[in-house]
Amino acid sequence: MEREIIEFTADTQPVKVYDAGSGIEAQFLVDWLRGAGIEARIASTAIEPLAGKVPFQIATCPVLVARRDAERALAELPGFEAKLAERGGEAAFCYHCGGALDTRPATCPACGGALDWS
Ligand SMILES: [Zn+2]
Repeated sequence: MEREIIEFTADTQPVKVYDAGSGIEAQFLVDWLRGAGIEARIASTAIEPLAGKVPFQIATCPVLVARRDAERALAELPGFEAKLAERGGEAAFCYHCGGALDTRPATCPACGGALDWS
């Protein structure tokens, strides 16, 4: 289904740079990109209308950026995916600031946020 959205210029037209496997992962990427100075958002259409109708595994959360930022966003993905892999399912990073953690401290050394490892 092709849709032309003529209000957007070529520079600001949203383009998908990533299909996140969950809303949490998508939000993590949005925060990651914002940290790199790239305005990103989660495509909302993927979440609400489909919830409950589609098996959870095949519902993805596309992450969008403006076309002019797409190249920079794509360049950030390897680092983001490495961070995800590093996380290994559960927290090897601070879920407040996203900082990497070698140990599992009660508070994040980077931002001071309280961490619950249970
Ligand atoms: Zn932190």
